[in-house]
Amino acid sequence: MRLICTVKVDTSRMHPSGCSSGSQRARASTLSFGRSPGPDKEACLFLQSAIDPKGVKYKVKDNIVNVFARFVQEGKCTIRLKQPAHDLIIQAEPLLLKSFLKVIKLGIAKGSTEPEAKIPILEEKYFRPKIQTKYIVATNTEYPTLQGFPRTVEELRIVDLQRKSFDRQILRLEKLRLLDLSKNCIRSLPAELGSLPNLKELYLGENHLGKSPSRAWAWLNGDSIKRNLVLLDLSRNEMTWLPLFLGQLTALKTLNLSYNMLTSLPGSIGLLSSLRYSVRKILRLNFRQKFIIALYRCLSIQENRIQSLPGSIRRLRLENINISGNPFSSMTCLPLNQFKVSTLVECAARSVLKARLNYDAETIPHILVKYLNGARFCDCGGACFENHVYAKFELDLRRISESCIFSTQFCIPLDCFFCSMKCTRFWIRS
Ligand SMILES: [Zn+2]
Repeated sequence: MRLICTVKVDTSRMHPSGCSSGSQRARASTLSFGRSPGPDKEACLFLQSAIDPKGVKYKVKDNIVNVFARFVQEGKCTIRLKQPAHDLIIQAEPLLLKSFLKVIKLGIAKGSTEPEAKIPILEEKYFRPKIQTKYIVATNTEYPTLQGFPRTVEELRIVDLQRKSFDRQILRLEKLRLLDLSKNCIRSLPAELGSLPNLKELYLGENHLGKSPSRAWAWLNGDSIKRNLVLLDLSRNEMTWLPLFLGQLTALKTLNLSYNMLTSLPGSIGLLSSLRYSVRKILRLNFRQKFIIALYRCLSIQENRIQSLPGSIRRLRLENINISGNPFSSMTCLPLNQFKVSTLVECAARSVLKARLNYDAETIPHILVKYLNGARFCDCGGACFENHVYAKFELDLRRISESCIFSTQFCIPLDCFFCSMKCTRFWIRS
């Protein structure tokens, strides 16, 4: 027999001082009574809850010290057990609780006409609870506003529900690997999203993230996301600029920025070291493995307003790049030297980058954050501020990608910034 109830497990008897620090809170649970399906087939009480789906088994024979059923009319009772010394404080619908207690009584009473062998065996499936790892919310009425998402969820899809804000319940899903929030109206994401320990794929297409202020991109600065995120879809978000933090996503293999209003890409895009692959490694792969990689190592900036790409893009080695639908200009410009004595702000910014500090407006002055966010990147990977050499060259994209989708031209203008004359000369020679 099964009883849907609320159970609080009081373990205070286990502590000689009577301290109840080990007691749980009352939780929605299922309490089953029957014989366990194992070889011993002994009668037991089996307690399961959403937090503990594997459940706890309590022996019944010679193990129930007392049943406090004084308030059973109000749907309350307590079962005191010997081993372990737990008190199960139960609250349930009065009639169901009464009949549940009656069944237990019949099952265990000494001299009862109901022999133990007649207590039914609990079905095996109760002991192997289904762990839900995928969760799809297809309509607003299905949205689990009150009960929340199961903590075991690894893939969560909340698509096309026109939701205006990010649901903070998602931040509790520590096992979450894939989050799909496409086709909503979300404007900003909380910084804590960057701390979800297992998040690898994030689909945010067709939202309003382009309207969020720069501080709302702090989630890209989270330690876990920087280390783990493999796929990021920011397509159709009305974005006019991209945060510099994007370059810190060291595991990122697929980046989709298509159908936005971007006029340029941040120089840090060349720092996305996982977007590139080793050609030697690829040659050793079989066809299937190559196909899988083709799905991953790609950058899409289709349908934006980009006139030139940052020079750092030359560092990437992609399987696929899509740059169609952008108004690339064909102007080139010879190196312009702008070296002079560094300002104090520039010195400070260089020190922050050299020390690899995780910075935001709370740890360093706001002006310095803004200055750092405006950094350009040299071909060597170093940051450039006021002191740099600027040039505009053309790059044949076939040099950085196995397959390319263009609108008109193969050669795309690159905005190149160099941190020193040495780097400039090295680029010109190569
Ligand atoms: Zn350099």
